[in-house]
Amino acid sequence: MQHVLIVAPHPDDDIIGCGGSIAKHCKAGNQVTIMYMTSGDAGGIQYSKEDLAALREEEASKAANHLGVSNLIFLRIADGYVEFNKENLIRITSIIRDIKPDIVYIPHSQDGNRDHQVTHLLLMEACQRSGAPFFPECGLQPWRVTTILGYEVWTPIQEVYYCEDICEFIEQKLAALQMHLSQLEYCRYDEAIKGFNRYRGIMTAGCDYSECFTLLK
Ligand SMILES: [Zn+2]
Repeated sequence: MQHVLIVAPHPDDDIIGCGGSIAKHCKAGNQVTIMYMTSGDAGGIQYSKEDLAALREEEASKAANHLGVSNLIFLRIADGYVEFNKENLIRITSIIRDIKPDIVYIPHSQDGNRDHQVTHLLLMEACQRSGAPFFPECGLQPWRVTTILGYEVWTPIQEVYYCEDICEFIEQKLAALQMHLSQLEYCRYDEAIKGFNRYRGIMTAGCDYSECFTLLK
């Protein structure tokens, strides 16, 4: 059994980038944890930030549960303001040493969203730090992450390294994505993601639906 950590800058990035792969890991009996950097409190202006964060955490929980995941971590960093700083590095490195993931999924390095870019940098650094016998402020048991995969959200990957066939899980993924109702009000991106996974399946992976990744470690 492997332990998989999915890191989502905002609630829904986990489903968009790797919802099918998450369902596949769960079906295979692997242990999956999803960590949300922000609770998406900037994703709309008709609610207060507090109300929207609570609503989006609830949507994230329902969607994750639908894929078979109940281990969720909400870091509650302000949406739109994820920073590469000491506080965040210590928190994230400590979590990695604590939960000991074998595989970590993060946004790929060329993602166009700023929170996604900073999340990428934070996790690359935290995974490197967690493996060495340094930084005692992050816990006293080093943990070496074996594999880091970069997933795609709004910016397609230029050079795909790995494709996951998600044909069996596409309906489950779309149903989970549709649980993010507060976001689908603005834009039916579930349709876009279905089309994109179909494009990846036919053009990149040679199957009906696929999620594609870069290999970062
Ligand atoms: Zn996002």
